[in-house]
Amino acid sequence: MSEKSLDPQDWDTFRAEAQALLDHCIDQMQQAGERPWRPMPEDLQAQYSIGQGGDVMARLRRDVLPYHAGNTHPKYWGWVQGSGLATDVTAGMVTAVMNSNCGGRNHGANYMERAVIDWTRQKMGMPDTASGVLVTGTSQATVLGFAAARLRALGAEVRKTGHGEVQLTCYAGQGVHNATRKAMELLGIGSDNIRRVPLVDGQMDVAALRALVAEDRAAGARPFLVVGTAGSVDFGLFDDFNALADFTEEEGLWLHVDGAFGAWTRLAEPPYRGLSDGIGRADSIALDFHKWMYVGYDCGLVLIRDEAEQRAAFAARPVYLRGKSRGVASGDPWFCDYGVDLSRGNRALKVWLALETYGEAAFSAAITHNCELAKVMAAEVLGADHMALAMPPVSNVCVFTARADLNAAAQSELNTRIALDLQESGDAVFSTTMVGEVEMLRAAIVNHRSTKADIVSAVAAVAARASVLSAAE
Ligand SMILES: *Cc1c(COP(=O)(O)O)cnc(C)c1O
Repeated sequence: MSEKSLDPQDWDTFRAEAQALLDHCIDQMQQAGERPWRPMPEDLQAQYSIGQGGDVMARLRRDVLPYHAGNTHPKYWGWVQGSGLATDVTAGMVTAVMNSNCGGRNHGANYMERAVIDWTRQKMGMPDTASGVLVTGTSQATVLGFAAARLRALGAEVRKTGHGEVQLTCYAGQGVHNATRKAMELLGIGSDNIRRVPLVDGQMDVAALRALVAEDRAAGARPFLVVGTAGSVDFGLFDDFNALADFTEEEGLWLHVDGAFGAWTRLAEPPYRGLSDGIGRADSIALDFHKWMYVGYDCGLVLIRDEAEQRAAFAARPVYLRGKSRGVASGDPWFCDYGVDLSRGNRALKVWLALETYGEAAFSAAITHNCELAKVMAAEVLGADHMALAMPPVSNVCVFTARADLNAAAQSELNTRIALDLQESGDAVFSTTMVGEVEMLRAAIVNHRSTKADIVSAVAAVAARASVLSAAE
């Protein structure tokens, strides 16, 4: 009977091919500035179908690597897309070779994940009673935070019985990310039970929040959760976390903070650092490493203030998963008791390697620089004919229109065309967002490769495109 292992029959060939590919990959990363997004040719799409075989190494170089999503490019500021790190290459190699399942048991990756969580907890200013688990991203972290919040409101029974007829209500600022809606839907609470709290000076109005909570209580609903935002997706705004924590402590509500990217202002220099003051008073924080800590996709984290509450919400181990006092199944805690996933990849290693290689100070400087670049962009906009800002940037997000002198519909059409044209030409990637009636250009700078010159040339490209398109009307 022949053996069926999938290991290479010829390790020397595998080694030579892999080493050549590694060189090619490092070249591509080094040349990130010359490689903007480009659309994938249609005939190539068919070639991805399974069963083509052939010279797979050549296909990777020719047909796969060039068609990345563009976010590695220094002039990519669309949506909120992390730019990646060279350490991701080496971390990816080590991660693949170890192939750790981080759901539990006793092995190195779990200790590393604990170290990454503990470091982040300290940076956020959460007490050492807090716990956490690495997840795909803030969307999943939000679901976990809300599930723990619900358990505090209704007790552990909710895991068995569901929340039945109780009408749970949640409160979030007008600019809250869609992840809150999805989490409310997934937990069966329903997105109609999100109350949108108006903003005053870009922050949730606590007086309005208080009134909404009182109104819902009077109507028989069960307020359970306030969602603060550290870095709103449209404008990079921050709630006042001390004010929110004072309120939620007084009212016995759970405070969750969506800090997907903005939580990392904790590492920034003043004045940006102050934006997230008080975030450590939250009951849970959802954040991403793959955005403003620049590590490769995917990696997010939920932190929960009280480890007992996290375990109460998620721990459930059938007999076959019971821990042992020694051997492979020893080790504690098991991360499967802290979230949804049983089998989990090793997301910690790339974060650990980045921090150990570059040091916290380098992240601090890059994050601060991104905020400064948003200010540079704003200054360029203000200095250009006809352009205008939606508002002065607070953190790393700059939103503007190319032609404030046109009516809303014409501005929207022009801004959208400019965004798409510059994406396709490879000059720069802006996304767009609505500001009142106007669709505007938006840059969220979570890119350690961006320079001041990149910002200046991109705004100049917007101006040039605006004049070409306006002249053509
Ligand atoms: C990106 C983002 C999310 C969702 O995070 P994912 O990592 O994409 O799941 C939630 N909130 C804000 C403010 C975001 O920017």
